[in-house]
Amino acid sequence: MAKLYFRFSAMNSGKTTAIMQVAHNYEERGMHVLLMKPTTDTKGDTKIISRLGIDREVDVLVGPAESVTKQLGDLRDIACVLIDEAQFLTPKQVDEIFWLSIEKNIPFMAYGLRTDFQTIGFPGASRLLEIAHDIQEIKTICRCGKKAVFNGRKINGIFTAEGEQVAIDGQDNVDYESLCANCYKKLVK
Ligand SMILES: [Zn+2]
Repeated sequence: MAKLYFRFSAMNSGKTTAIMQVAHNYEERGMHVLLMKPTTDTKGDTKIISRLGIDREVDVLVGPAESVTKQLGDLRDIACVLIDEAQFLTPKQVDEIFWLSIEKNIPFMAYGLRTDFQTIGFPGASRLLEIAHDIQEIKTICRCGKKAVFNGRKINGIFTAEGEQVAIDGQDNVDYESLCANCYKKLVK
């Protein structure tokens, strides 16, 4: 039986690179994957861009009010559905991909952040943590060398604890740094 997988982490852990690797592994064997991204992530437009400099065109963009099931179509000949920035899915869309993985018997691999810059769960990520069959953390490192768990938001290079939940890095002088809890407390709180 196919499963819904959630791979979560702090910012800059190489999630997008991991997605491209998985896609490559399938395609090397002559199988097709479908790459999906929520439109909330405006970075890269219709592409996903890994920090290693590789990019790839997204097959399906899905807006917050849209039905994932409708956008994905019949999924014929698709061996796996890969989702980047999955924290931006709505809880309802997460339920859709869960049931699609069962009905279509296709693995869905969702990659995303667990929490925002205030350490609050993104609604989509929280729903993924509730229902995904298989959950794994992708580890990344804080500036001090410990494992990073939180995402510090910087505006013009200065950490901030206030603002909207969603602010895309690289826009409006916003940028993020993944931090361990100690450094987050020291630098952000
Ligand atoms: Zn640290």
